Amino acid sequence: MSQSTYRTPKGTHDVLPEEQRYMTYIKKAVRHRARQAGYQRIDTPIFERRDIFERGIGEHTDIVEKELFIVSAKKQDESDDTELALRPEFTAGVCRSYIEHAMDQLPQPVELYSIGQLFRHDRPQKGRYRQFHQFNFEIIGIKDPSLDAQLIQVMVRIFNDLKILKRLNLQINNIGLPENRQAYVEALKEFFIGKERNLPELDRARLATNPLRLLDSKEEDTQILIKSAPQLEQFLDNESKEYHATVLEYLQELGIAYQENPRLVRGLDYYTQTVFEFWDESTGAQNAVGGGGRYDGLIELLGGKPTPGIGFAGGMERIIWHMKEAGVEAPHKDQVDVFVAQLGPEAKKQCLTLISRLRDKGVHTIGALGEASLKSQLRHADRFGAKYTLLLGQMEVKEGTTIMRDMAAGKQKQIKFDDAVETVTQLLVEKNLDTYSLKDALGDVDED
Ligand code: AMP
Repeated sequence: MSQSTYRTPKGTHDVLPEEQRYMTYIKKAVRHRARQAGYQRIDTPIFERRDIFERGIGEHTDIVEKELFIVSAKKQDESDDTELALRPEFTAGVCRSYIEHAMDQLPQPVELYSIGQLFRHDRPQKGRYRQFHQFNFEIIGIKDPSLDAQLIQVMVRIFNDLKILKRLNLQINNIGLPENRQAYVEALKEFFIGKERNLPELDRARLATNPLRLLDSKEEDTQILIKSAPQLEQFLDNESKEYHATVLEYLQELGIAYQENPRLVRGLDYYTQTVFEFWDESTGAQNAVGGGGRYDGLIELLGGKPTPGIGFAGGMERIIWHMKEAGVEAPHKDQVDVFVAQLGPEAKKQCLTLISRLRDKGVHTIGALGEASLKSQLRHADRFGAKYTLLLGQMEVKEGTTIMRDMAAGKQKQIKFDDAVETVTQLLVEKNLDTYSLKDALGDVDED
């Protein structure tokens, strides 16, 4: 590590090339499964008016109360929004967009997905960052238990594609309608009268602002008390119960394993009925790799017509961690095929042409255009992992040749300069080394 005093800000991390390979691979799986199921990509701004998050997610949730990054900006004219916040999640922004662009006029349901950075000013720890990446899916406009099951199935497929499904465990619950929860919260508060002293400080505060969070508290003392407290299930209306039973029936039909978890509530106010999370099989909730749920009141809360919706977000850093733990490698196309080494001003000039011709053929080419000795350039080629090195000195320029060195075999031979591109390309193809042509690159739409 360098001695510079500058570091990434607390809770953030650089996504270095090795990690990018995993990111790219995850995005490929996400795009593939999204297209298969008719989802279309949407990108909303990284910041929004802060009240979109405050109203949608809930003022007494951790995300809003403690974790929102507020963006300060000077007002330049009357139309400027100055009360902005970096997005801590995707759903509120996507719903804002659904309303703003009158997507209710499109055929319903509207299925949208996003991939990008989120910001939460949380206490950094393993798997918990202040800037992190998620992929996110939403189905808006129609409510049906088969959509809940289908959404979950897309996630299961993605985790399976990434070879980490076996490490995960789907937890599912139905938290009912807002009025059910209201009645339940009252009952919970009543239950805890006189017992507050036994709660850890954080949970005592939660009891006052957001008592539901006590259910998924990590504190042992709270968990013991909760066991004898009233259960949310007793307060659910019949429609919610039936809805839940049907979602489970559909999951069974699709062969998706799940675990019913009556204490799963998730931290956001906007959820209604179905909620679910994919937990780390070995460590449990702390390290959920993804979660989601139904939010049938959110669009109305943000000023739209009553519109149902359900969504899911997967945490990419945690997925990468699981992939590495499981020994899953991310295939990539970052290899160096050819290193071009040169000596002398004339050779250097010719090498520019050679390098660009190779690149045009889709051969990944790096050229040493400095003044180092041929020997040190060869060492360099080796460190880059190049398959072949093409050497060009004054003699070769005069003769119209180049020396082609097979790096693995340590053998070299002289070939005609004009044949070099063709010869090397042919050898790479014979060795089944994938050259990445422009056509491939352009065919690979929305790489981000
Ligand atoms: P949530 O909507 O908060 O459940 O987030 C969905 C997923 O995003 C989680 O299951 C995590 O995998 C991931 N995630 C949430 N917060 C963070 C964070 N602070 N750092 C890294 N990943 C996170």
